[in-house]
Amino acid sequence: MDYKFLTTDSVAAYIESKPELSRIVDVASIQDVQEVGDGNLNLVFIVHDARGGTVVIKQALPFVRLVGPEWPMTPFRAEREAEALRIHGSFNQKLVPELYLYDSERFVIAMENLSGYRVWRGALIEGLRHEGAAELVGQYVAEVAFGTSVIGMPAEEQKLLMSKSINAELCKITEDLVFTEPYDDIGRNSVLPSNEVDAQALANDAVMIQAMGEAKWKFMTNAEALIHGDLHTGSVMVRALNGDQGPSLAMAFDSEFSFYGPIAFDIGALWANYTLAAARAVALGNVEFAEWVMSLVGKTWDSFANRFSELYESRVDSRVWKAEMLEDRLAEWKSDAWLFAAAKMSRRIVGLAKAADIETLEPSLREGAARGVLELSRRLVTERNSDTSTSSFEALARETLTKHKTK
Ligand code: ADP
Ligand code: MG
Repeated sequence: MDYKFLTTDSVAAYIESKPELSRIVDVASIQDVQEVGDGNLNLVFIVHDARGGTVVIKQALPFVRLVGPEWPMTPFRAEREAEALRIHGSFNQKLVPELYLYDSERFVIAMENLSGYRVWRGALIEGLRHEGAAELVGQYVAEVAFGTSVIGMPAEEQKLLMSKSINAELCKITEDLVFTEPYDDIGRNSVLPSNEVDAQALANDAVMIQAMGEAKWKFMTNAEALIHGDLHTGSVMVRALNGDQGPSLAMAFDSEFSFYGPIAFDIGALWANYTLAAARAVALGNVEFAEWVMSLVGKTWDSFANRFSELYESRVDSRVWKAEMLEDRLAEWKSDAWLFAAAKMSRRIVGLAKAADIETLEPSLREGAARGVLELSRRLVTERNSDTSTSSFEALARETLTKHKTK
């Protein structure tokens, strides 16, 4: 792949060369260009001019930034991200940043700068409560699920979109890192020495392995909707309307893993990452905050289910899709979300690419948090067979995380 990578010095000239961008940012008065990429994969620049114009420029490199050129990665993932932004934004402009431009020659996305917003994971680590954010991401998942599935989109159109949305390399990352390597280490796993026994127990749990095989199958075959594909709390930005917490706005971003996959995968990803934030709070003895964080599981689900049910009224084909179809789908997605949540939380403990919620705990506290999350993931896959309510999920998390608290 031969194309020019952007630098803080070349971003202004780049903007000048694109009319779509020089309308938004005044090149002559650019005040600063900051490289803020804290992610694992891409270059991200935030640009401000003297008149208040601002833009985010994101460029995909042909390799994984976290590792370097020795791990090549298709830059066409930028196209998948741009398309997801465009399509998801067409359902609700308030839930994703606006796409200004996609440059297919240099794999660059230019989008709205979510100024005043912050990444949700960091806010949760600080113990801040962004009220309403969990509901808004639930609504986002519902609108995407409806709008890109054959329930909300004419079948021919949906098939065309599905054919253009293949994202094989990024799907393979998930297939390997989330569903496989925690149970078959190829040298990329790691835990604290005191958690080695817990990681072994996970890898040797035949019931868990069967469940992960099932989850992986669903991930690879349930082409239901153009899902986000990586919807953790680091892919959501939140903004409190007053001060640093309380009633808030929320947007989903970084959708480069987007593909036609199972709707419950996005929900499970959110639940898993709420659980990691709660595990941190439990480890630190912040019982009330942990309770609040776990309540996000039900809030996201209820918002998703309510919004999807509203939208279902305007489905494109109601001849055999009646009220029962809606009930059946919601029941299936809720159950599958337990499965995907289990997959997503354990991989963040034992596998490559960990979560700051847990990693920034001092080891004596991290030990118990990690053990609690791993045991919880194993319990989720069995308990979902008897009860899939979100209150049961929350109760099981509370009990398991508290039981293993260290110190
Ligand atoms: P990667 O794909 O490499 O993980 P991200 O899309 O997560 O990159 O972006 C990295 C960081 O840049 C985010 O965590 C966030 O802090 C910032 N960022 C990305 N997009 C925006 C945006 N539209 N507005 C404001 N900040 C953004
Ligand atoms: Mg990313």
